[in-house]
Amino acid sequence: MSWEIMRSETGPCDCGAGTMIHVMEMDDWNPTRSSTEIHCPACEEKRSRELKADRAREKRRDELLRRAKQLATDRYLENWLARFAGMSKRAAWERYTGGSGYPALGTFYQHVKHSGSLSKYMEWCFPNELEKSLRILGVEDKEIEALLKEHSRLWRPTSKSL
Ligand SMILES: [Zn+2]
Repeated sequence: MSWEIMRSETGPCDCGAGTMIHVMEMDDWNPTRSSTEIHCPACEEKRSRELKADRAREKRRDELLRRAKQLATDRYLENWLARFAGMSKRAAWERYTGGSGYPALGTFYQHVKHSGSLSKYMEWCFPNELEKSLRILGVEDKEIEALLKEHSRLWRPTSKSL
């Protein structure tokens, strides 16, 4: 399998002092890939700074989410599990989804089965569907909300995808 260049376009770089070459390639199976070469020290450097900033931002986002999950687990998991304790799977599903939406009842049963028990599955759901879980619990926790808000505010990367 080899990649063949289908198209290559050369244009000025962002600052105008050098060039950027945009290459589109195709292999025998037809998928394409594209890449951009920057031939300008200033733009190259800017690009690498942006990538670095993106990575730092991703790390910060992971950290915010991890803290939100940790706080919520420490504060509310016990209460959460108590809400579903002793319930039938169907009743738990109704409480969790409000009777519609994701997951569908059959999917919910499967997830419970794969998790090993209803409480194991609900324990998994709690941090992984954190906002939904807190809504169901009726909890308003300013500290956790602030972490989640900052987490979604930071989602947009600084660098343009080339
Ligand atoms: Zn440039």
